[in-house]
Amino acid sequence: MGLWWIGLAGSLCLAGAAYWRRSLSGSGALAAVVLGTALYALGSASWFGTLIAFFLSSSLLSKWKQRRKAAAESGYEKSGRRDAVQVWANGGLGLALCAACAVRPEPALYAAFVGVMAAVNADTWATEIGGLSRSEPRSILTGRRVAAGTSGGVTPLGLAATAAGGLFIGAAAWLLQRLDAVAPGGLDSAAAAGAYGGAELLALGLVGGAVGSLADSALGAAWQRMYRCRVCGRELEARRHCGEAAEHIRGWRALGNDAVNVLGSMAGGAAALLVGVLLL
Ligand SMILES: [Zn+2]
Repeated sequence: MGLWWIGLAGSLCLAGAAYWRRSLSGSGALAAVVLGTALYALGSASWFGTLIAFFLSSSLLSKWKQRRKAAAESGYEKSGRRDAVQVWANGGLGLALCAACAVRPEPALYAAFVGVMAAVNADTWATEIGGLSRSEPRSILTGRRVAAGTSGGVTPLGLAATAAGGLFIGAAAWLLQRLDAVAPGGLDSAAAAGAYGGAELLALGLVGGAVGSLADSALGAAWQRMYRCRVCGRELEARRHCGEAAEHIRGWRALGNDAVNVLGSMAGGAAALLVGVLLL
């Protein structure tokens, strides 16, 4: 708890820069500061830093080749600027696991946390890198070709990005263990974070990322609400396109992209929890 101000200072700098660079909205920046500070206060440098690794890599990827992605992105429910709902959808479950580990330190809770962060990171990398794929995506459920930007569409490049995004979080968690050794937070949640070795953390990241991102794709394809633009005919996650309200064509109206992301990260966390228990 004693070093919580490092989390506050670090997240103020990063959220401020992200707000200035227009990758976070005002509410998103505030949510990111609360999330980052709480992860440091209840966890340690490795809990906090894993969130930062996701945040930095996904923000940089979003800005990369932005012009080429702008066309595909116009069909998504939300565009580049993350708001508070998206920040909590990506980090809320991770914070809940951190709080649980502060109360009752268990290495498996840290494994689940790595899985959750790997799932959201893998999903973001798959979207950002896979969106640049020149091959036509296929539906994860039916194997049929779908339009680029459709939920549940996968490409070989996107699947490679999924694996890389999960491994990246495992590698970040491994490197961050050294910071915990230098400046232990004083809570047993830091000790829980140190229970796994490097190869184990890479495995947790890969499993959490792959399961989470594929669950996200499958849920998106099966049940996420989808619309069709009445003007240009494109299938969309967004309710409006080309300046007009779009027509609801399928999916469960209550299930939007943020809810699908949360369910996907739960699946990634559960898979990593299982592997984490088996590894102990
Ligand atoms: Zn349109």
